[in-house]
Amino acid sequence: MNYLDNIIFAVLLVLGFGYFFINIKKISRNINLGKAVDRTDNSNIRWKNMAMIALGQSKMVKRPIAGILHIIVYVGFVIINIELLEIIIDGLFGTHRIFSSLGTLYGVLIGSFEILAFLVLVAVTVFWIRRNVIKLKRFINPDLKGFPKNDANYILYFEMVLMTLFLVMNATDVHFQLSNSGNVISQFIAPIFTGISDNSLHLIERTAWWLHISGILIFLNYLYFSKHLHILLAFPNTYFADLNPLGQLDNLEAVTKEVKLMMDPNADPYATPPEGDVHVKFGASDVQDLNWVQLLNAYTCTECGRCTSVCPANQTGKKLSPRKIMMDTRDRLEEVGKNIDTNKGLFIPDNKSLLNDYITPEELWACTSCNACVEECPISISPLSIIIDMRRYLVMEQSAAPMPLNAMMTNVENNGAPWQYNQQDRLNWKNEI
Ligand code: SF4
Ligand code: SF4
Repeated sequence: MNYLDNIIFAVLLVLGFGYFFINIKKISRNINLGKAVDRTDNSNIRWKNMAMIALGQSKMVKRPIAGILHIIVYVGFVIINIELLEIIIDGLFGTHRIFSSLGTLYGVLIGSFEILAFLVLVAVTVFWIRRNVIKLKRFINPDLKGFPKNDANYILYFEMVLMTLFLVMNATDVHFQLSNSGNVISQFIAPIFTGISDNSLHLIERTAWWLHISGILIFLNYLYFSKHLHILLAFPNTYFADLNPLGQLDNLEAVTKEVKLMMDPNADPYATPPEGDVHVKFGASDVQDLNWVQLLNAYTCTECGRCTSVCPANQTGKKLSPRKIMMDTRDRLEEVGKNIDTNKGLFIPDNKSLLNDYITPEELWACTSCNACVEECPISISPLSIIIDMRRYLVMEQSAAPMPLNAMMTNVENNGAPWQYNQQDRLNWKNEI
C-alpha cells in the first residue's frame, strides 16, 4: 500500500496547526503584558453580549447591506469548514468522502455547503467592489495604507479561491456527480469539464482537494498577521468588554488612594511611605501601561473604520482616527513582543514608546471624548479608553496638557472653579443688576 499521501497530509496538518498554536501562544503572551483588570463580574450579561454581538453580529446589521453580507461570509465560512473534518479523516486514512455513507443527510449537508459557498462568492465580490470600485471613504482614508489596506483584498481573494476550489472539487468528482445528491451548485460547473477523461478529472479533483486543504491551513496561519484575527478574538473581546455605561470613566486606583489619604483626618501627610510602596506610573505611555483588555482590543480590531467614519474630530479634519489608535497599539505591541522574543524573554528598552513614536499628543488632544467610536464599533472595542489613559500620562506625569487646559486646571486647583477669579468674587455679577 502507498502511504506517502497520508504521510504528506499528516505532516502538512501538524505544520499548519503547530505554527498556528505557536502564534496563538505569542498573542496570548503579548496580551498578558498588559496590566491586570478584573472582568469576571456579571458573567450572564457577558455571555449574552458575546452571543448577541460576536455570534449574532447584532451591531453589524446597523448598516444592513454590509451587515447581511458579512453574516453570509461568516456563517458560510464557518459552516463550510465543518467539511474540514471529512477532509482530515480522508487525508489521514486514505478514505474518500467518508461521510457519504450518511446517504441523504450527506447530500443535504454538502448541498447546503455548496449554496453557502456560492453566497460567499457573491458576498466577497460585492465587498471587493465596495473597496476597489466604489471606494467607500472609510476604506481609502489616509490612516489605512500599506499592508493593512491590501490585507482586506488578500483575504477576499483567499475566500474566492477557497470557495471556487471547493466547488471545482465537487464538480470534478465523478462519483459525487453521478450520485446526484448534494451537487446543487457544482452540477452547473460540471459541464465545463465535459469531454475530459476520467483520469484527468480525477487529477483535477485531487489537485483542487489538496489546494483546498493547503489553502485553509495557510489562511489559518495568515490570521495572525491580519486584521482577520477578529474571526477568533471577537468572542473573548465582546465577553470581556467594559460593562459600565458609555462615558463613565474608571478612576485611577493610585489617585483614589491619594485622595482618600488626603481626606483622612488621622493620616499623617509626612509619614514615610510603607516599605515596598513603589512609584505608580499614572496613565499610559506605552503598551505595557495599558490593561490586557485594551491590548486584546488592539488584536481584535477589524480595521473596518466604522469608528473613524463617525468620529467628529476626524470628520472636521483633525489628525485623529480611532482606527489608527487601535492599529498603532497593535503595531507597537507586536514590536515589543518581537523585542522579547529576540532577547530570550526579556524586554530590553528600545527608546521607543506608543506615545510620540506611534500616537502623537496632537491626535490625543483632538478627541472630544464623545464615545461615538465606542458606540459604533461592531465588536465592542474602546479606542477612547486608550486615548484617555495616554492623556492621563501627559497630564499627570508630564504636565503636558495644552495651554488652555493647564490654565483651567490651575484655576480649579487655586479657585475651586475653572474661571480665573477668586471664589469670593463668584457672585459679583449680581451687584451689576
Ligand atoms: S471619543 Fe474621541 S476618538 Fe472616539 S469618536 Fe469621539 S472624538 Fe473620535
Ligand atoms: S475599533 Fe472597531 S470600529 Fe474601529 S476599526 Fe476597529 S473594529 Fe472597526
